[in-house]
Amino acid sequence: MPVRAYVNHSRWVADCVRLYCGGAELLRPGQSVVWCSNCTLVAPVEWPGDPQAIWDELMTRPVPQTRNWYPRDHEVAVRHGIPHGQTVADLREEAAAHAHELMPGGAPAGLEGGTSWRGLLR
Ligand SMILES: [Zn+2]
Repeated sequence: MPVRAYVNHSRWVADCVRLYCGGAELLRPGQSVVWCSNCTLVAPVEWPGDPQAIWDELMTRPVPQTRNWYPRDHEVAVRHGIPHGQTVADLREEAAAHAHELMPGGAPAGLEGGTSWRGLLR
C-alpha cells in the first residue's frame, strides 16, 4: 500500500499507512520509496501528477505555514475539513483570496468580510 505525498507547512511529507503507527516522514522531491523511522515499514510513495507545479505555486506564498496541499480525499485534510485535491489554479485562487492578509499590517479577512487562512491551517 503506497503512502501519499502531501505538502504541510512547506514540506513534502507522507504519513505511514501501518495501522496504529502514526509516523510521518519528510520526502525529497521524486522520492519513490519511504522508510518509516517509527515502525520500519517500507512503502512506495504516491506523488501527484505534477508536484513541481504545485510546489512552484505554493512557493509564491511568503509565509511557509500557508504552503499546504493534500491529494483528493487525504485522511488528514478530510478529518480537519481543509481543502484537498486542489489544482494549481485552485491554489492560485486561494492565495489571491488571502493575499491581503499577508501584506505587512494586513487585517484578518473577518474584519474585511473575506475569508481567512486561520481555518485552513493545521
Ligand atoms: Zn510507521
